[in-house]
Amino acid sequence: MKIDKRIYGILDRSMEGIAPSKEECIELLRIPERTLEASLLRSAADELMRKRFHNQAMLLGQIGIETFPCPGDCQFCVFGETHTVFPKTEISDAGILEAAIKFTAQNDLYALFLMVMHTFDENRLLQIIESVRRSVPASTAMVLNIGDFSPETAKTFAAAGVSGMYHVLRLREGTDTKLDPEHRRQTIRAVKEAGLRWYYCCEPIGPEHTPEELAEQIFLGLEYKCFQHAAMRRVRFPGSPLFDRGMISELRLAQITAVVALAMIDNSELQAIAVHEPSLPGLLSGANSVYAETGANPRDTSENTNQGRGRDTTACKLMFAEAGFTSVYNAGGDRFSLEVG
Ligand code: SF4
Repeated sequence: MKIDKRIYGILDRSMEGIAPSKEECIELLRIPERTLEASLLRSAADELMRKRFHNQAMLLGQIGIETFPCPGDCQFCVFGETHTVFPKTEISDAGILEAAIKFTAQNDLYALFLMVMHTFDENRLLQIIESVRRSVPASTAMVLNIGDFSPETAKTFAAAGVSGMYHVLRLREGTDTKLDPEHRRQTIRAVKEAGLRWYYCCEPIGPEHTPEELAEQIFLGLEYKCFQHAAMRRVRFPGSPLFDRGMISELRLAQITAVVALAMIDNSELQAIAVHEPSLPGLLSGANSVYAETGANPRDTSENTNQGRGRDTTACKLMFAEAGFTSVYNAGGDRFSLEVG
């Protein structure tokens, strides 16, 4: 069997626990996805991460609680203010609680995420956090997916019972978005300084992103030591300003997920690797986490993503089981067996 020796060497060292450098990750990202070397890369990440995470999966759930034309104006997002045709929506407090209780009914959700647009009403969000925190099990972590914020706000949310934040310096931030890359970094530092767990992601990946760009973004997760890293592809939707740039396959997304996993070998704070949206090839390539979603979703033109692209917790757990994971666990450390069928 003829295998590229250099790629084989990088993977062999990774299997010994020696993390690939940024330059080596660029080489891994350059491999065409339908090759033996790409298959080996995905298999190596799969083997390593199953050992690292004890073949346990992390189930997460997200509620998109409101939508309006967003000043972040990300060209890849259905809510961007200059191109959105999405109606202004807001889930009622009762609706948020109903969704939160449904997500956590089995007590097997690791964390419940609340998502808003780039700008948000801090007081309203604090009220929602308080009522959701009272209604879901103590063993469910609470995480926010919101816009940029100050170190003081990060501490306020931590004191309210939030344990983590999803925050990303996106690919081509400031070019494909109206947001300042330095503000994104400042918020990530605020998350870390407040003692919150930082959920990160290489996103939103399109065919135009170079291996160098991807590696640069992936390694920020190592620099600031993320709790969760991930890979997410950009979804092409009608009316998207980036529609013509196309979309990568789940196979390519799985390869990038595998590189993310190997690049994080030395990240001592890492507890999970996710793939967005839930993807079986991704779960066979180093990922052990996916998100169930309800309400608004930046990649979906459906007002309630669980009637569109989003999956519910049952579908996510079935996908974990089909990928060979044996259990999920909540933030309290309780374990729940997974079954196919
Ligand atoms: S991705 Fe977030 S910040 Fe960007 S337009 Fe969408 S909701 Fe706003």
